Amino acid sequence: MQDDAQDLPATVDALMDGLRSDLEQLAAIPSIAFPGFPAGPVHEAHDLLVRLLREAGVERIERIDLPDTSPVVYAEIPPPDPAAPTVLLYSHYDVQPPGDETLWKSPPFEPTPIEGGLRARGIADDKSNVIAHLGMLRAFGGRPPVGIKIVFEGQEEYGSAFDSYPPTDPDRFACDAMVIADLGNLRPGTPTLTTGLRGAAEVLVEVRTLDEPRHSGEFGGAAPDALLVLTKALGTLHDVHGDVAVEGLRREAWTGTGYTDDEFRTLAGVRGDLPLLGSGGLGERLWSGPAITVIGLDAPSVEHAASAVVPYARAKLNLRFHPLQDPHEAQDRLVHHLLSLRPFGVPLTVTPGDTGPGYEAATEGPAYRAARTALKEAWGEDAAYVATGGSIPLVNGLAQAAPRAEVLLFGAQDSMCNLHAPNERVLFSELRNTVHAMCAFLREYAADFRADAPR
Ligand SMILES: [Zn+2]
Repeated sequence: MQDDAQDLPATVDALMDGLRSDLEQLAAIPSIAFPGFPAGPVHEAHDLLVRLLREAGVERIERIDLPDTSPVVYAEIPPPDPAAPTVLLYSHYDVQPPGDETLWKSPPFEPTPIEGGLRARGIADDKSNVIAHLGMLRAFGGRPPVGIKIVFEGQEEYGSAFDSYPPTDPDRFACDAMVIADLGNLRPGTPTLTTGLRGAAEVLVEVRTLDEPRHSGEFGGAAPDALLVLTKALGTLHDVHGDVAVEGLRREAWTGTGYTDDEFRTLAGVRGDLPLLGSGGLGERLWSGPAITVIGLDAPSVEHAASAVVPYARAKLNLRFHPLQDPHEAQDRLVHHLLSLRPFGVPLTVTPGDTGPGYEAATEGPAYRAARTALKEAWGEDAAYVATGGSIPLVNGLAQAAPRAEVLLFGAQDSMCNLHAPNERVLFSELRNTVHAMCAFLREYAADFRADAPR
């Protein structure tokens, strides 16, 4: 089929039964690379992928063992000719733990048919994309029209080495374009390119006002209450509409596609007709503007509450910020805001925590042109541009290792597939179209790249 675009849909359709059974076999392995889980299944998944790659015609396969992490499957197919580009394909074969198994409708590591797809832990995130890469290799008979580097990471969900390792080994990761397939579509049937990721930072805020708790009848009313001070401070982080009220955090209009309000309400599980927070488009509230969430609070629990003025309280804040804002600048803005407050005249102790940068892709190059054509061909409609509020640190790691490569984020997941939650599922339609899109992308990109090459 390789050279004839007409045959691609039929070729991919013919591969689907085999890909489905390989996905079932892979998803039946509980490859959880978290502390406290056995390493055996992770290695079993690794070995299965090595065998599947070999059977798909890949000859150069290596195992990368980094300190304190699960093995990475690394494979190369040299470019068919010197004018062909090299594309790096990333996905990961470890999965999240299943969590509370009583919330699952079927055992998490027994892939179970559902309408149009399969349910199992990790079957979407990210084993669907591992299998999509394999499908692309089979469609091309192991000889794609570009050079290929495959990276199947074995420990992405817990303490990934890929936010720092790739820049230390730039030759290995050198490429003209990379497809980071660890996400998918805005909704099933809507082909989606994720072009932005928000950055993240944490900040701890503490208040100590008394040596010990004091009787609230005898001292309440005058003794400074740490919990009251803290909640008053937290109340200043948002305005009356629920928009972030900390100055200096970048917020811009979002120009790509986004969720409808109803979709978002359903995805978030918002109760009844409660209003959403903030004003303006959902895109700028979720992707191109800041968010501050109180993710933890230390204070006496209601169950153990004594009639006493609280002497100490603290909160952990999670800040998400515009993809292009400097992480330390964004974090400093929040720290400065808190330090400048003196609720009831009481100063706060503010400690900056971890930060992670955001990412914004340049979308004007030949790989993006090829991807737009390919996604449209596979799904039958124009690709939507979205961002995501979650960060994927390895995107920055890989982008630093190959700074001139175009970075594409698309894949077989979709925002309704219950990632990291009970009853994770994948749809065959999205898997099939992702295989089709990957093949069409490589075909288009190879042709475009050659046309541009000096003769
Ligand atoms: Zn993932």
